[in-house]
Amino acid sequence: NNVSYKTTNPVTGLVEREFASLTPQEIDAAIGRADTEFTSWRAIAVSERAAILLRVAQIYRARTEELARIIATEMGKPVRQGMGEVGLVADIYEYYATLGPALIGDEDLKPARGGSAVVRSTPLGVLLGVMPWNYPYYQVARFAAPNLLLGNTILLKHASNCPQAALVQEEIFREAGLPEDAYINLFAQSNDVESIIADPRVRGVSLTGSERAGMAVAEAAGRSLKKFVLELGGSDPFIVLEVDDLEATIDAAVSGRMSNAGQACTAAKRFIVIDKHYDDFVAGFTSRVSKMVPGDPQQMATRFGPLSSLAGVTELVAQVRDATDQGAVLHTGGHRVGDRGSFMAASVLTGVTPQMRAFGEELFGPVGVIYKVADAAEAIALANTSSFGLGSAVFASDVDAAHAVADALDVGMVFINENTDSHVDLPFGGTKRSGVGRELGRFALDEFVNKKLIRTP
Ligand code: NDP
Repeated sequence: NNVSYKTTNPVTGLVEREFASLTPQEIDAAIGRADTEFTSWRAIAVSERAAILLRVAQIYRARTEELARIIATEMGKPVRQGMGEVGLVADIYEYYATLGPALIGDEDLKPARGGSAVVRSTPLGVLLGVMPWNYPYYQVARFAAPNLLLGNTILLKHASNCPQAALVQEEIFREAGLPEDAYINLFAQSNDVESIIADPRVRGVSLTGSERAGMAVAEAAGRSLKKFVLELGGSDPFIVLEVDDLEATIDAAVSGRMSNAGQACTAAKRFIVIDKHYDDFVAGFTSRVSKMVPGDPQQMATRFGPLSSLAGVTELVAQVRDATDQGAVLHTGGHRVGDRGSFMAASVLTGVTPQMRAFGEELFGPVGVIYKVADAAEAIALANTSSFGLGSAVFASDVDAAHAVADALDVGMVFINENTDSHVDLPFGGTKRSGVGRELGRFALDEFVNKKLIRTP
């Protein structure tokens, strides 16, 4: 068997654990098990499925710190932030366990031609999830929780750098009493994904990750006419109009950019600031982030850890270098920290122009780019130049002005006077090259489902 799943500690750069990936025969058997289980899982009362999800939530809460330490080791998330992620995950399972059943009941329509018509949400079957390393528990939860509630069964191919987080999630489902084959962790390689999607027993696929992976999955799903949901990258604008409290706005900007060392699809990445506040914003943002020194993610006090991999650092340094080579101004950072592990200095760029990589590409790490604009109209135009359209934040003391901007932004989510965030009961997803479909809230229950019409005259 090939070894493709490895825990490489981003603090040391050393490989700590290795796991063999599955053979094609083992993958085929897993698809068969999930398919067989679907028949019984879908037939169980929804209240029973919900009860299992509630136990899942309880286990996450009970094991919070231990789970946070696993991802600190595998992808470098500071343990305090990891505990926050686990808490959110518990909330997601609990939300679908408690409020979910009422959201998937029959919908009675009043047909214009008389008689009755009911729309019933019925599950599709085996679904494949392909998930990334940046929120190893949360990415799985927002896919698995609504779909298990609906009665779908799941094959989960996690990122190759977080195998222990992948295994513990399968273990938690079993401990909670989920039938073994309703959720199967697949140590498959990314080049196995296409044939898994093509398998007639697999009915849909959801991927969170890069555009490259998203295109491969959408292509495979298209060829075999399968439903897909994609949550891809983002280059979220953080727009600053006239604000009364600029210091608080800068604090929000720093946390929007720096949480999880900047490795979030909805991190604030492009700070678009009106003339009046621009100089103070650049100075305040730079002074705050230049004091942030990356540290050991296992320490409770650490707020800024390493990136998940050295490849991530190398890519970001190259993106910054490409900008400075063409005349952008680097106010702080721009380099790796130390020669062990994958630490990157917090960085700030201004003077970024369209021919630079940093203008159009996603910067998946602790690099903020600040732009100056004359007014709201210019802010909207600049924000909408991005090929991405995921989240956004608009800060303004005049809330009506912020709403006008919200209306004009070509994105999936707008947050006014706060950072883009994930709420269990609100839709999460993007437009343009950020993906298709929605996760969380009642919206996730509309994706991998057959809305079956039952009509009586
Ligand atoms: P990838 O998109 O490569 O990885 C995400 C998941 O997709 C992993 O499980 C990966 O498997 C799988 N995958 C990769 N390529 C394919 C493929 N061709 N077909 C099917 N599955 C595939 O992300 P990276 O870790 O390489 O990160 C690169 C960039 O992606 C980041 O810099 C960022 O821009 C973006 N990204 C966005 C995320 C988000 O939250 N929206 C999360 C992570 C990354 P394997 O690990 O085995 O390769």
